[in-house]
Amino acid sequence: MVKVCVVGGGTAGSTAAAEASDCGAEVTLFERHEAAPPPSDDWPDFIRSPRTAPPSPRASAPRGVEAVFGVNVLAVGSGCRVYTAAGTRPFDSVVLASGSSALMRPFPGVTKRGVFVLATFEDCLRLARERISLERPVVLGRGLRALRVADALLEGGRTVCVAGPDGRSDPRLDPSTSLVLRKAAEARGASFFSGQSVKAVGTESVEAVVLDGEVHACDALVVVPSLVPSLPAGDLRTGPCGGALVGASMESSIRDCYAAGGCAELAGVSAASATRTLSLHYSCAPSSRVAGANAAGRFLTFRPVGSFGARVFGVGLACAGLSLSQARHLGLDAVESTVSRDGSTCSLVYDSCSGRLLGAQMAGASLPSLSPPLSLLASQSVSLSSLAYADLGESTDISLLLQAARQGIAWRRGVGGKGAGLRPDGGGAPVDSGD
Ligand SMILES: Cc1cc2nc3c(=O)[nH]c(=O)nc-3n(C[C@H](O)[C@H](O)[C@H](O)COP(=O)(O)OP(=O)(O)OC[C@H]3O[C@@H](n4cnc5c(N)ncnc54)[C@H](O)[C@@H]3O)c2cc1C
Repeated sequence: MVKVCVVGGGTAGSTAAAEASDCGAEVTLFERHEAAPPPSDDWPDFIRSPRTAPPSPRASAPRGVEAVFGVNVLAVGSGCRVYTAAGTRPFDSVVLASGSSALMRPFPGVTKRGVFVLATFEDCLRLARERISLERPVVLGRGLRALRVADALLEGGRTVCVAGPDGRSDPRLDPSTSLVLRKAAEARGASFFSGQSVKAVGTESVEAVVLDGEVHACDALVVVPSLVPSLPAGDLRTGPCGGALVGASMESSIRDCYAAGGCAELAGVSAASATRTLSLHYSCAPSSRVAGANAAGRFLTFRPVGSFGARVFGVGLACAGLSLSQARHLGLDAVESTVSRDGSTCSLVYDSCSGRLLGAQMAGASLPSLSPPLSLLASQSVSLSSLAYADLGESTDISLLLQAARQGIAWRRGVGGKGAGLRPDGGGAPVDSGD
């Protein structure tokens, strides 16, 4: 029986461990905490309504997996030797799923009372306990995590400011999706401002945030730091963000050592982008399933088609595959077709030459349940034309999806012209139709 070691008991580690065990491997999972904290995706919900205790670690260990809590894996070496304070153990293969940690850039006033840096689960619980006394919090950070924290704080009639440099917008969200979320946030009383330099001021507690010289009064500053991959020591090749560099099988530079989730970076998917990498935070579950199965001796490959659903400011989000900025980061010539109707929006990201679907995002009243089917569509790389005329049902959300596909086709054929149109995003060269 193949002996697999999984490092980390978060979403990626438990998924990989369960998959390897289902494939018949004997699996040992090491988690450095005594009790596995709840998955960090759930933390914003704890701010809204703190439950008493995280789930029991034993109960949350995947079936058939030997989970060892309170053990920090110090290093992984060649021959899949795993080093802990208790000694060295050899395995046939290893899955690194050690996630990420908060990267906190210090700024003046960060230690004042009323400044909450959300780096650990305990920080979230502390904010949850004190939330009730806050009246005018400022949330620093712009991605989906920061928006979810702002959403949790808005309850109870507070006004919340969301601050941060624009460049920190979540690369997983397309511009149209971000806009829908922002409008919904503003309708609920949130305001947004931007700046590069940050200072928290006040005598003892924070009383204002100074952002690029502009003063914003507040009674709390909630900082949502960016995340950087965290890895045990080892002779691992890492990507530009510091994550373990993996190929499509999720194998790292150490033979039979795989990596997935927040600690991994997938090397570029197009020939033009051999040096680009994609953070695998957003597709924890699918990347870990591939890593877990391969560690157990299968031969699977991963395509970057993770999906996630969320509800923020009363808006349902369903996202699958690559966003526009992720696709372009990977060197793909991607464009976006966006359709908005009755407060809902759908954007499709596709390859401008082939019309192949790369990703899909929808935002509206009732959409999260659509993320698995969207993920399936993106994973099959369907073309715009096969999507546009597919018989998918009659719901409003589906008709929005089909309309976005038809609009993409129209653009590719050159609306009102002969075979060439301007890119929907206003850039790049015209292309032939060929769908
Ligand atoms: C506040 C917050 C909110 C977030 N909200 C969202 C969201 O809304 N949507 C979203 O998609 N993502 C969100 N994320 C990102 C999310 O955390 C990741 O996508 C996902 O949790 C990554 O899962 P993971 O299993 O790779 O890592 P983690 O969940 O970080 O798990 C890694 C585990 O490995 C353990 N570990 C690390 N090193 C070692 C070692 N050397 N030895 C033993 N054990 C070790 C850690 O203790 C940890 O339990 C959020 C993150 C944070 C911090």
